[in-house]
Amino acid sequence: MARGGGFMLQETDIHDIFTPEDFTDEHREMARTTERFAVEEIWPVNDRIEEKDFDLVLEKLRQCAELGLMMIDAPEEYGGLHLDKAASMLVSEKLAWSRGFSLSCTNHTGIGMLPLIYYGTPEQKERYLKKMVKGEIIGAYGLTEPGSGSDALGARTVATLTDDGKHYLLTGSKQFITNAGFADLFTVFAKVDKKHFTAFLVERNTPGLSLGPEEKKMGLHGSSTCQVIFDAAPVPKENLLGEIGKGHKIAFNVLNVGRFKLGAICVGQTKFALAEGSRYANERKQFGRLIGSFGAIQEKLADATALAFAAESAVYRLAGLLDGELSELDRNSADYYTLCQKVIEGYAAECALVKVLCTEVGAQVISEMLQVHGGYGYIAGHAIEQMYRDERVHRIFEGTSEINRLLVASRLLRQVAVPPPPAASGVWENSWAGQRQLLTGMRECCLLFGKRARQQCGDTLDKEQEILLAYADMAIQLFALEGVTLRAAKACQKASAVKDEQFRAVALLCAFTGRQRFLAAAERCASFLASEDLLPLMVAKTPLAAGSLLAAKRLLATATLQAEKYIF
Ligand SMILES: Cc1cc2nc3c(=O)[nH]c(=O)nc-3n(C[C@H](O)[C@H](O)[C@H](O)COP(=O)(O)OP(=O)(O)OC[C@H]3O[C@@H](n4cnc5c(N)ncnc54)[C@H](O)[C@@H]3O)c2cc1C
Repeated sequence: MARGGGFMLQETDIHDIFTPEDFTDEHREMARTTERFAVEEIWPVNDRIEEKDFDLVLEKLRQCAELGLMMIDAPEEYGGLHLDKAASMLVSEKLAWSRGFSLSCTNHTGIGMLPLIYYGTPEQKERYLKKMVKGEIIGAYGLTEPGSGSDALGARTVATLTDDGKHYLLTGSKQFITNAGFADLFTVFAKVDKKHFTAFLVERNTPGLSLGPEEKKMGLHGSSTCQVIFDAAPVPKENLLGEIGKGHKIAFNVLNVGRFKLGAICVGQTKFALAEGSRYANERKQFGRLIGSFGAIQEKLADATALAFAAESAVYRLAGLLDGELSELDRNSADYYTLCQKVIEGYAAECALVKVLCTEVGAQVISEMLQVHGGYGYIAGHAIEQMYRDERVHRIFEGTSEINRLLVASRLLRQVAVPPPPAASGVWENSWAGQRQLLTGMRECCLLFGKRARQQCGDTLDKEQEILLAYADMAIQLFALEGVTLRAAKACQKASAVKDEQFRAVALLCAFTGRQRFLAAAERCASFLASEDLLPLMVAKTPLAAGSLLAAKRLLATATLQAEKYIF
């Protein structure tokens, strides 16, 4: 049984968390290959890609495939590598260094290919997947419509079986479809007989399929985004994906992984921004000094390091949770992918919270690193300026921040009525007792506030969005901070003296900020519930000794300036 949402109920054993320190040599090699591809192959042509040279984008996509970067998630019998989620996330993270190009690529390997991997028949996979892993055909995903975005099931595109029973005729339109301009295969959601939400694999050259003009976007100029229009477009009935009326499962399960991948991409962008910021801080002089010597700039670098550490820890923690369960499944069994989806579906709350956490960390860090650049950060041509524009949409697609927060809260609130199982064991050094106590207090508050919300609102809790959003923020901070603390405590068991200090510094900084954010959310939640008795309680349960905070910030800033990049 999937153990998703378990972090709300009990402490995770320190030995059970997967962290970037656990990457294998194979993981590290893939990361290096991907980063090298981004720096050597994409950076020199970034301007041409930004000008929408889609022939070049396609050439680079094929190059990416030749390096094996499109094979990660696909099964071996169709030319894939079927690697674990940690590898998949690491490649996505490193692809983020390829700037705007990363969307074209990860859209193909993510929501472009995953529906086929998880739901395709052997014939469909044989026909399309083999070519997709080689970059010979590029995928796109058509869920959103002009009238239905967040409300994806409100789609109006219809599919009607022809009299001879050989084709479905698709009529309707899909909005904002990434890669549409050059994609060869679209996963399209339409309602059979106007009722049954169903997925179809639609080839680009299908008669009746046409594209709207390229959208003029705020950022991601090098990616293609168009409307895709279907006018009685005949799709062979063999191209129905999954089952009639089960399209929602495909749409939502694929989005779970899509969200998770987007979290990893945001981690990459956050680190990229930090590298840009620290390098600039080492170059720019004002008042006769390098700006990196000012406490104000150092604090930004330290805070950015801590945020990146929290986001990164959350992504790979979730990768480890999923890999742990997925590795127990028999890859040769006929229902392997059905079982995979069940596991992933069990972690829908974690996928959503990782997306919210990482996209918001990315936004904050990129904005602060632009600030480090002063006026130059606002001028086109600086990487940070492009990143600032490109990042914005991350809080909108793959489910908006609001929709994902609502999902996190509604999923987790179902669990608070369940009595917590006994706490996990695990050997922690005494020096971590304070931060461990903080986590215990945060978890107790989550359970207590959740129970109160359920008691007070009963069946209407689903409609009390302000409460749900606040509750989601509490849960996000708990998941993130627990990931950070477990990772740092585990790493310190083996780290050198220098690294030990850095892990402790970053964990303290994350604890300080995480606690602040947690309490702000808890205060909102308690106030919305008019439960003032919870206010002193939440403070009493979450003590933190942060006397060495300034020293921790300076230590992280100094190390970041020295390395001119993210130091973990
Ligand atoms: C550059 C780009 C690329 C994209 N690529 C793709 C793609 O490849 N495939 C695809 O299918 N889609 C794609 N999308 C669409 C994207 O997923 C949607 O824009 C997104 O899901 C939001 O839908 P919407 O724009 O209709 O906003 P709406 O759903 O209209 O939302 C507007 C606001 O209302 C809020 N809101 C809506 N419903 C609720 C609710 N129930 N409770 C609380 N708040 C709510 C939202 O959070 C948001 O703040 C892309 C979008 C962009 C901009």
